[in-house]
Amino acid sequence: MSNIADNLRTYLHSSHLRLIERTSAVCSSRSEKIYLAGGVVRDVLLGTTPSNLDIVVVHPQYEFVDHLARGIGGEVVSRSQFDTFKIIVSSDEIDVATARREEYIRPGALPTVEETSIEEDLSRRDFSVNSMAVSLNQDSWGELLDPHGGEGDLKQKLLRVLHERSFIDDPTRILRAIRYAVRLNFHIHSETYRLFKRDMVYLQDISGDRVRHELERTMTEPFAWDVLLRGEEEGVLSAIHSGLKFGRIHNAVNTSNEQRVEGNDVVLAALIYFSSDVQMGELAIRLKMGTRWSRIVREVRLIKSASQRLRAPGLSRSELFTLLCDLHPEVIHGCAITTQDTAVKSSLYFYLNDLRCIRPSIDGDDLLALGVPEGPQVGELLDRLLHDRLEGLLSSRADEEAFVVNKLKGCLD
Ligand code: ATP
Repeated sequence: MSNIADNLRTYLHSSHLRLIERTSAVCSSRSEKIYLAGGVVRDVLLGTTPSNLDIVVVHPQYEFVDHLARGIGGEVVSRSQFDTFKIIVSSDEIDVATARREEYIRPGALPTVEETSIEEDLSRRDFSVNSMAVSLNQDSWGELLDPHGGEGDLKQKLLRVLHERSFIDDPTRILRAIRYAVRLNFHIHSETYRLFKRDMVYLQDISGDRVRHELERTMTEPFAWDVLLRGEEEGVLSAIHSGLKFGRIHNAVNTSNEQRVEGNDVVLAALIYFSSDVQMGELAIRLKMGTRWSRIVREVRLIKSASQRLRAPGLSRSELFTLLCDLHPEVIHGCAITTQDTAVKSSLYFYLNDLRCIRPSIDGDDLLALGVPEGPQVGELLDRLLHDRLEGLLSSRADEEAFVVNKLKGCLD
């Protein structure tokens, strides 16, 4: 059995290393076996620093997690129905789970869960490279458990499921497969790829919450666009819903510098831009969208419905500002990337790059100080100043003050 203590020392963040050393010490007088497991092991073997710590404990005794949290100076901040816990220690988080077996009553359903050995826990996981564990007990610190050949697959850059029904049991693994394939630049093993294609249809069975959660995780990846474009190519997006598509923008996004835009609101807006109104409504229901996603859908609809005005040659700067100023810039950006209409695209970018931050230099207090009486005239003047700033009729604070003074003297309309 290989020992990867050196990898832990080299690649774990120093505060994470301290935390697992303390965890090990706190548990030294206890009988439970404890492991680091899953993506964290994959990452340290790949020579990268994992962002989170996942600890698995086998058959924990009563109040194990509270004992651990106290011992490492942390606090248990959440407990789930599947015996998973989150402990916060200063600014670090540790996820602790009981080693468990999962059974799926039907495809896409949430599993029923039972406590089990570490080996069985590893065999319920998604891909061999995520099915390794490292012992944290003091007598076996750093020993690698790799019952599914994960280390070999890591070397060959392969994603491989552990059994033939894996994607049927949990179709979210289909989304996870493209996420890892793109992020790690791995190939999907040929047999796994056959199952991936065969079982894509089961994506329809996953609950809206779960599919939205996986999409959300995808959208926060640094390579979110590439993952979603791959998802589109493979038919994964349309298997979730026909309204999820980059459509004709595919090549444009693929080759453009705009591809690396951060922010998942941008990606979501781009992803739904080509959906019809009906499809957007269906998507909101299918993905059980909450307030934020529904707001993005609403704003994309607004921008699409304003297309005619956005492309009109005579559109003034202040009209453009008024059309877009209440919408979130990320959504406007997602639409700007996606739209094929060059006039609409340039209006959206013009707003984002040039108009969005324009404001008058003086505010309501300045107006009062200049002698404007309190009341509706203050708001009217501020609107007028903004309008004239946008149109380039005023270009400095001095211009604005002169405008207000003249207005007060009755020299202006
Ligand atoms: P990331 O690197 O994006 O943080 P991760 O590989 O750590 O991801 P998580 O989603 O945080 O993955 O889950 C932790 C581990 O739990 C995974 O590495 C995998 O072993 C297991 N796991 C997570 N989701 C599933 C799933 N749907 N099916 C099977 N195993 C899963």
